[in-house]
Amino acid sequence: MTAPAISFEFFPPQNLEASFRLWDTVQTLAPLGPRFVSVTYGAGGTTRDLTRDAVATLHGSSGLNVAAHLTCVNATRAETLKIAEDFAAAGVSEIVALRGDPPKGSAGFEPHPEGFANSVELIEALAATGKFKIRVGAYPDKHPEAANARADIDWLKRKIDAGASEALTQFFFEPETFLRFRDACAKAGIDAPIIPGILPIENWKGTRNFARRCGTEIPAWLEDAFAKAERDDRCDLLATALCTELCSELIDEGVDSLHFYTLNRPELTRDVCHALGITPRITLENVA
Ligand code: FAD
Repeated sequence: MTAPAISFEFFPPQNLEASFRLWDTVQTLAPLGPRFVSVTYGAGGTTRDLTRDAVATLHGSSGLNVAAHLTCVNATRAETLKIAEDFAAAGVSEIVALRGDPPKGSAGFEPHPEGFANSVELIEALAATGKFKIRVGAYPDKHPEAANARADIDWLKRKIDAGASEALTQFFFEPETFLRFRDACAKAGIDAPIIPGILPIENWKGTRNFARRCGTEIPAWLEDAFAKAERDDRCDLLATALCTELCSELIDEGVDSLHFYTLNRPELTRDVCHALGITPRITLENVA
């Protein structure tokens, strides 16, 4: 098995303790040599400044290739593009461009009257600057707002055609879900890389709730497995084994890149990477 390329997603810290946790996560995972790390943008545009600060700090101090998430929620076009310009000015030229979810309590996405109406408009505007490598979100289990799986893939194609060069997927629980999606994308003429999003399960109840909100299908066997593991207090062991197995099956099917949702907790992601043969890269700089 060839070790895949990897990338890690973090979220911006909201207080001092969370900042230490993020730094610890970065220090644990950076030696694994990620292709890039990304920093999320809070739902409803809530962490705009925190994301900007975390992106600039990571870019300036970690030596990692940093990608900033950016959404269209609650902002005019000018405000959104100003944030992108700030990223560029800080030396960050990779953006994960998203429509975004509405703020808590809102019924659905309502574009700002002077804002981007959808992700395609945002991608077109970012691409027109010529300054960014653009990644977008993709949904192997279908986005809850999509009319059907075909319409979801047609929309993904529009995002790629608008100027994105890669898609990162929502998490999923079974390899077949991703492989079917990858085949359907290829059939629809999408030739940009589709990178599976991998969520090591830190907390089963939280993951299950999140999956329900995202429309991610939860297999019955997984419910059973975690019910038993909770009884025997071995959830971490199960999570590591399941995640490693999921990644191995994807790699066996030709997947060469994985994007890990770390939730700013490094241990499970690190253990899975080690099990996949991805080990720390010590550079001369480190030992000198
Ligand atoms: P889109 O793909 O533009 O739209 C979602 C779906 O709705 C589409 O798949 C399509 O089926 C349908 N749709 C939307 N508009 C149209 C249209 N005009 N015509 C036809 N169909 C349409 N959220 C955050 O708030 N911050 C983050 O940092 C963040 N990071 C993410 C990272 C990844 C890798 C992923 C997969 C998701 C992330 N999200 C984040 C969640 C994301 O914001 C939500 O899933 C949101 O509901 C959709 O955003 P999108 O850009 O994927 O939307």
